Amino acid sequence: MIQMDSFRHKGMRQRLVQELRRKKITDTNVLNAIGRVPRHLFLESSFVSFAYQDKAFPIAAGQTISQPYTVALQSQLLNIQAEDKVLEVGTGSGYQAAVLIEMGVKLFSIERQKELYLRSTKLLKSIGYNGRYFLGDGYEGLPTFAPFDKVIITAGAPFIPKSLLLQLKIGGIMVIPLGDKKQVMTRITRMAEDDFKQEQLGECAFVPMLKGVVN
Ligand code: SAH
Repeated sequence: MIQMDSFRHKGMRQRLVQELRRKKITDTNVLNAIGRVPRHLFLESSFVSFAYQDKAFPIAAGQTISQPYTVALQSQLLNIQAEDKVLEVGTGSGYQAAVLIEMGVKLFSIERQKELYLRSTKLLKSIGYNGRYFLGDGYEGLPTFAPFDKVIITAGAPFIPKSLLLQLKIGGIMVIPLGDKKQVMTRITRMAEDDFKQEQLGECAFVPMLKGVVN
């Protein structure tokens, strides 16, 4: 797979990193990770010219690979520390998962659509991104592997899933786009057992977080 990442791709990635810097992404761990992950491999077709533009892009099963800025912003808001145990809801293309693994986390990612789960898990493993990947309903989280330092939801959630809040460590952070058609990027910090601080951090647009598994 290494040969599929060329100097040309690396050059385009560095320009994308510069663009993200201009858009106020400051976490160097995030910027370095985006500089390393070969995003062109996560698009359905290798339309190289699209892969390193700061745009969302359609992938299989009517879903999208999030815009690089959105991936960077959510990763930055999580305030990632090395070895953090992170739960991602919505594996999708696998790109956000790859960025988090590059940042040094222990990643657990759930996807509800079997087609995407199979395809993205295979790709991630083939290029060395060894997280733990699950086909399942993110509304339930992964109680067996809880608690998590961080939880990242990469689909638009109509409400905050209670079960996911309870899978956060004390001091843990959840980043979740909240709302139906449009969402507000929201950061929740578990201050104590029953005390959650909430911050609203601007509008965004995601595909919806839906219930159940699609086989
Ligand atoms: N993180 C992805 C973004 C994909 S879009 C990436 O980097 O490409 C959102 C994904 O969330 C879709 O693949 C969708 O199928 C998935 N999803 C929606 N609701 C879900 C749920 N309840 N549990 C798990 N995955 C879900």
